[in-house]
Amino acid sequence: MQPYISFPQRAFARRHLGSVDDTRQQMLDLLGFESVRDLIDAAVPPGIRLDKPLNLPAARTEQEALADLRGIMNQNLVLRSNIGMGYNDTVTPPVILRNILENPGWYTAYTPYQAEIAQGRLEALINFQTMITDLTGLPAANASLLDEGTAAAEAMSMALATNRKGKTIFVADSCHPQTIEVIQTRAEPLGVNVHVADWKTFDPESVENLFAVVVQYPDTTGSVADYTEFLAKAKAVKAMAVVAADVLSLMVLKAPGEMGADIVVGNTQRFGVPLGFGGPHAAFMACTEKLVRKMPGRVIGISHDTTGKPAYRLSLQTREQHIRRDKATSNICTAQVLLAVMASMYAVYHGPDGLRAIAHRVHGFATQLAERLRAGGFELQNDTWFDTLTVKTGGKAALIVEEACDRGINLRQIDEDLVGISLDEKTSAHEIDLLISAFGLERAVVGAGEDVADDAPLSLPAELLRSDEVLTHPVFNSYHSETEMLRYLRRLETKDLALNESMIALGSCTMKLNATAEMIPVSWPEVNGLHPFAPLDQAKGYIEMFTQLSDWLSEITGFAAVSLQPNAGSQGEYAGLLAIRKYHQKNGDDQRKICLIPTSAHGTNPATAVMVGFKVVPVACDENGNIDIDDLTAKSEKYADTLAALMITYPSTHGVFEEGIIKICETIHANGGQVYMDGANMNAQVGLTSPGFIGADVCHLNLHKTFCIPHGGGGPGVGPIGVAEHLVPFLPGHSFLGESEQSAVSAAPWGSSSIDVISWMYIAMMGAEGLEEATKLAIVNANYVAKRLETVFPIVYRGLNDLIAHECIVDVRGFQDTAGVGVEDIAKRLMDYGYHSPTMSWPVAGTLMIEPTESESKAELDRFCDAMISIHNEIKQIEAGEFSREDNPLVNAPHTSAMVTADEWNHPYSRQTAVFPDSYTQNHKFWPAVSRIDNVFGDRNLVCTCAPMEDYAE
Ligand SMILES: *Cc1c(COP(=O)(O)O)cnc(C)c1O
Repeated sequence: MQPYISFPQRAFARRHLGSVDDTRQQMLDLLGFESVRDLIDAAVPPGIRLDKPLNLPAARTEQEALADLRGIMNQNLVLRSNIGMGYNDTVTPPVILRNILENPGWYTAYTPYQAEIAQGRLEALINFQTMITDLTGLPAANASLLDEGTAAAEAMSMALATNRKGKTIFVADSCHPQTIEVIQTRAEPLGVNVHVADWKTFDPESVENLFAVVVQYPDTTGSVADYTEFLAKAKAVKAMAVVAADVLSLMVLKAPGEMGADIVVGNTQRFGVPLGFGGPHAAFMACTEKLVRKMPGRVIGISHDTTGKPAYRLSLQTREQHIRRDKATSNICTAQVLLAVMASMYAVYHGPDGLRAIAHRVHGFATQLAERLRAGGFELQNDTWFDTLTVKTGGKAALIVEEACDRGINLRQIDEDLVGISLDEKTSAHEIDLLISAFGLERAVVGAGEDVADDAPLSLPAELLRSDEVLTHPVFNSYHSETEMLRYLRRLETKDLALNESMIALGSCTMKLNATAEMIPVSWPEVNGLHPFAPLDQAKGYIEMFTQLSDWLSEITGFAAVSLQPNAGSQGEYAGLLAIRKYHQKNGDDQRKICLIPTSAHGTNPATAVMVGFKVVPVACDENGNIDIDDLTAKSEKYADTLAALMITYPSTHGVFEEGIIKICETIHANGGQVYMDGANMNAQVGLTSPGFIGADVCHLNLHKTFCIPHGGGGPGVGPIGVAEHLVPFLPGHSFLGESEQSAVSAAPWGSSSIDVISWMYIAMMGAEGLEEATKLAIVNANYVAKRLETVFPIVYRGLNDLIAHECIVDVRGFQDTAGVGVEDIAKRLMDYGYHSPTMSWPVAGTLMIEPTESESKAELDRFCDAMISIHNEIKQIEAGEFSREDNPLVNAPHTSAMVTADEWNHPYSRQTAVFPDSYTQNHKFWPAVSRIDNVFGDRNLVCTCAPMEDYAE
């Protein structure tokens, strides 16, 4: 029998898998197995193995899959969309499209935890934060959230946690409808009462326990109002002021911060990020100084390196979920880094003058259109506007929307009478003519469309305009020619280590190949050009693609249905627990609120449980890393009347296939609970077993881990959930799609639609056999790495037959005593060898978790293992006294070019050892941009905007 599958030369699987044929045999030899099958049989408990192959379409070549997907997506009709509602079309500058969105140097990077090799995207993100603070008029901002709706919901949670005054939030009825819906979804389980009404007539004093107010600026009908007085009234009764704002209008409008806002949220999509039928885009949040440590998501800060050189880093709260668990400020983990980078670069490229010109032109066209519609006898509902008009049509709304559609433009039909028109960067004089004729007006009568000058006057009262300068920092005023921009992007890119440099073996994060053929469709106009609220008959291609992908994911997970709506794993967890909660409620079991979570769980799990109103009860793990079944059983029985769910990761976060998993699920069910499986480790399950088969009721997938969406340097992601039959009615709905049991968890009906094509391509090209082989090779590779490293670093946990699943935890804790070396020193020293560290100190403090994935070749695995072994030799030299504990290649790591070219070199090891520790680095060197960054200093001095760097130099 063949020791492994041999794929035809044309098969994509041969490109996705790091080793086929001989090299796999060599790994098996070291592991002492005859075949891949033998090893898998030994590693995976027989009781959980699927008894038949996945039922998926036959594998397609790259060309075939691209052609098939093109055929599907060609059914989409890409019209111009002047629908608005927080989404406006934009021009992605080609220099940004090709050099960021289509560039693996940017899109294959991981979240910048290892700051010394991530200065490029950290700089881009601090530019983003600076841009947001400038535009909103508030001092602090984070480095992106998932979408405007969830950002507004996060603002609600932040206000609720800060302001314990009451449980009622006022939301203006002129907010975007999907924002109101997502807030309502989030509010309900927390017992928060959402009061939706007209802000003009709402008296904050009339509600006793009001903790916050939310208004939209400009509002969803286009109206621009000064909220100063209203916010002051709200604050007089100690309610916090939240403003959801449009980013382009803020170039000219008075800043919400100036009106008294405590928190400002919004979406940066129209800064050069394609519509993508709903996402991904980077939402933002800005807040006052007082609230900054309560802000959800990542915040980039500034510190300095060992030489005093200023350096960027993620601030303290980044990992707070893992530390604070169920007391975390939010469950956000993956955010929208790539899109935030694009939006910030849009601002860098255009600069304040360019952006102002875009704003003036959009506004000028809106004014022109308003005047002509009025001249033609139409009345507007809004008498102020930035770019959006709401037109009263005398009951002809449907007809006008249809007429516009015939002319290639989608408008928003608000009701029988009202039509919304939201213009954008692409609006032209010709389009104004088309709109005028859609309203049945003659150019001869109301005038023809005219171009608008960059400095066209604004037709808004002066008190609504901003008078301060924005984006004055040099970064927004230096790179306006394409040559300069190209080089700026390149400079930042080369500071960052991404998958196009070397393997990034981050346990739990599954940094596998993001194949080019998977990425290509993301740039197709029929994929990225659709507005999320475009009429569904224009999205036939999308619907077909969603249906196929959902069906395939259902087959892979063993579930009845899948929802693609959640924008990240954290959001999938949320949607999944909401489904469980609704299910219990339907059964009359409202009291079921206990959520068992093993102590080894990812921090998002407890943080999410709290968001649905569950109470977290931790379950212990035994010394092998398995759930302590006795403890689990005892707690399930103890809480039999109130048990809602167990959240469990499989294979466990410790990287082993727990044999007891089926029994665990049975125990939970026997006590009335539901099993939520965290599917982040699905890369070890696909084709071998499945959450549905094991007995789980719901599970999220991270398409940005297992299914090849790139991490984008910290997002985007997609976190679909699969559910068993009884939970199908409780999947997230969306009011745009009609009534549903469960309201939306994301702003767009299908969340980050445009990147679903990546996972579609992956599954289409791999087929059932390729996917199963990928899982097996991921397990082979992990065991190979464990085998090679076990002689120098003990492996913390093992499963059946001393094997592991797809990742392993190596123990480096002992070296603190013997050599004064901690896990961080090893992580930083790996940079000198050209590597990104594996996952550090999670799930076990002081250890490294290595997940090689199936995409890495044996040669690369060997080079990584050699580096680890070489670092171990250096540790031995410290133990032997050859280097002191205070001065050795580890504690001084990473070494920069500046360090080794300095006139002085006083270390007991050579410059060569410092930066060219092996033969590979002698031929190809990746240079960390800065030396070790001072984390403590950065956390004490939280600065999250880019004032001139010199200010922070020592
Ligand atoms: C990545 C991960 C999550 C969170 O997913 P995001 O997409 O980052 O929100 C949850 N659980 C585990 C085990 C993970 O590895």
